[in-house]
Amino acid sequence: MNASGEFVFAPLGGVGEIGMNLSIYGLGPERSRTWIAVDFGVSFGGEEDLPGIDLVLPDIRFLVEERRNLVGIVLTHAHEDHFGALLDLWPQLRVPVYATPFTAALLEAKRRGEPGAPEIPVRVVELGSRFAVGPFDVELVSVAHSIPESNGLIIRTPLGTVLHTGDWKIDPTPVIAPPTDEAKLRAVGDEGVLALVGDSTNAIREGRSPSERDVAKTLVELVRTARGRVAVTTFASNVARMRSAAESASSRSRARPVI
Ligand SMILES: [Zn+2]
Repeated sequence: MNASGEFVFAPLGGVGEIGMNLSIYGLGPERSRTWIAVDFGVSFGGEEDLPGIDLVLPDIRFLVEERRNLVGIVLTHAHEDHFGALLDLWPQLRVPVYATPFTAALLEAKRRGEPGAPEIPVRVVELGSRFAVGPFDVELVSVAHSIPESNGLIIRTPLGTVLHTGDWKIDPTPVIAPPTDEAKLRAVGDEGVLALVGDSTNAIREGRSPSERDVAKTLVELVRTARGRVAVTTFASNVARMRSAAESASSRSRARPVI
């Protein structure tokens, strides 16, 4: 904070809950801030607490009021809990959306599957690129996750830098590229970071989760030695696990053809 204003953060969803990720960052004096939004996710209703409800959208009344001061929405990756609310809510905002090629392509595929969904002019940005969104200087940093092209955001402002992690895993051998760009994280750490903002599932649990490569190896072994057919369940959006399951199936058919 200084005389010309403040750099502020508020989660409109996604903190302390799974899903509905939507964060906003503001820059400037209290009464005339410029805003950037990161992600626009949905949450899923459950039979226990929300029977009959499939999807829960974030409450964006604040952003609608501040629409003229909202300079853009940056998507970290293409999971529903990070971009699933965009097609429904974007018409109330109509601001530029920034996404990497895979995320932009998946958004377009979703749009085609939903009659009447708006055509959102997405500004496609390259992995690892750095671009300006209003007064915010945004740089993408690749992070390993279960879907291709997951990004953390380095958000630089005249008042300091924040690292917004998105969903992440320190996995040197993910089954889908790229791995977490540790060199870039180290460099921004040396440069100086005011705050790290992150709420990745299980991030505050002690310990280490195994690499997806180890999960894949175990799956191959389990499928190879199984006596009958094997049914695998997973989130359809866990692209890495889908790949591991497919590879385990193909390794078995090579070893012992199914007739
Ligand atoms: Zn995710």
